[in-house]
Amino acid sequence: MNEAIFLKTFLSKLQDQKLHRTLKGVSGAQGAHIVFEGRKVVNFCSNNYLGLANDVRLVKVAKKSLKGEGLGSGAARLICGNMNSHVQLEKKIATFKNVESCLVFSTGYMANVGILSALCDREDIIFSDKLNHASIIDGILLSRAKFKRYPHKDMNALEEMLKESLGYRKRLIVTDSVFSMDGDIAPLKEIVNLAKKYEAMVMIDEAHSFGVLGSQGRGLAEELGVEEDIDIHMGTLSKAVGSFGAYCCGSKALIDFLINKARSFIYTTAMPPSIAAASIQAIEMIKREPKRREKLLENATRMRDGLQAAGFDTLNSVTPIIPVLLKEASTAVAFSQKLFERGILVQAIRPPTVPENTARLRVTVMATHSKQDIEKALQLFSEVKEELCLT
Ligand SMILES: *Cc1c(COP(=O)(O)O)cnc(C)c1O
Repeated sequence: MNEAIFLKTFLSKLQDQKLHRTLKGVSGAQGAHIVFEGRKVVNFCSNNYLGLANDVRLVKVAKKSLKGEGLGSGAARLICGNMNSHVQLEKKIATFKNVESCLVFSTGYMANVGILSALCDREDIIFSDKLNHASIIDGILLSRAKFKRYPHKDMNALEEMLKESLGYRKRLIVTDSVFSMDGDIAPLKEIVNLAKKYEAMVMIDEAHSFGVLGSQGRGLAEELGVEEDIDIHMGTLSKAVGSFGAYCCGSKALIDFLINKARSFIYTTAMPPSIAAASIQAIEMIKREPKRREKLLENATRMRDGLQAAGFDTLNSVTPIIPVLLKEASTAVAFSQKLFERGILVQAIRPPTVPENTARLRVTVMATHSKQDIEKALQLFSEVKEELCLT
């Protein structure tokens, strides 16, 4: 098959299955209200949970850094790209997370790929929740370790797998803290107990919980009181922190090891210093302004309760990520389109991002949504449900 035919066949198959995706444009800055494809809409699909992505104080800090440190970092961290703001950011995160040491990566995707492929190889085995993020899966594949996927949050299945996995050098259990398409949370206490019993390491991905959960905003491990029992804490600066990049926290030895072994850290240019500088300030705001977190969780509860009252299945969501299960990809797309025409932006999530026949709308709420934003969305959800004759 020649290349043109190969590409065309692939794309037309996607179109037939209603799974084809295209890029849509946003004008202006991120926020609870944005201009999407030229239309003003209330934004219910951003991970900018605390509204920090366009916070004036953060923009100011970034500007100041741009003036002093310039735009680009010029090189990888190990060469000559390790600038003041990078070092300060890692100190800030380590102190905030109460850990020995921290290493910043350019993205969450790169952090997961780098950490997992550095830590494990053919002699090791990795246990991964079936709904873990794609970057975790890619990291495991790249590591070439034995890859065991356990059914979503199924601790009995995980224990059976641990029992049967003799003869490996290292055993690592890895899980999202908050599952990004379902909005439910990992049973970290149970995972930590199994890890102790079967001498496994634990790595968690707090992408959707850092800045959101825990009384101080440190994440799900804080909320569940298991921070000390986690070997590898990964989280992102691109979601609640409103910036860009990711962290890995752990022992001094772990960070030293990653600096020397993680290829997605070693062979890439350091993040722009202004991004690091703004991230420092954002973490300070997360620490000092718990009100944002409270408002976020209040909005999430109202949205989830309202959707459930209107007869929608929100799966086991307990976070600001609220799935609305519609099953058919075509239904999800039509529903999303009708909401958009009425000024509400909610994306349809389809396979392969989620399993077959579990297409859904993925609603995410922000601290900066007003009561009216939420009530308007709820009303329109009910209207569209009726219009599409969904029961
Ligand atoms: C978003 C996300 C990532 C990737 O982070 P980026 O900084 O966007 O690359 C990793 N893990 C999970 C669970 C995520 O939701």
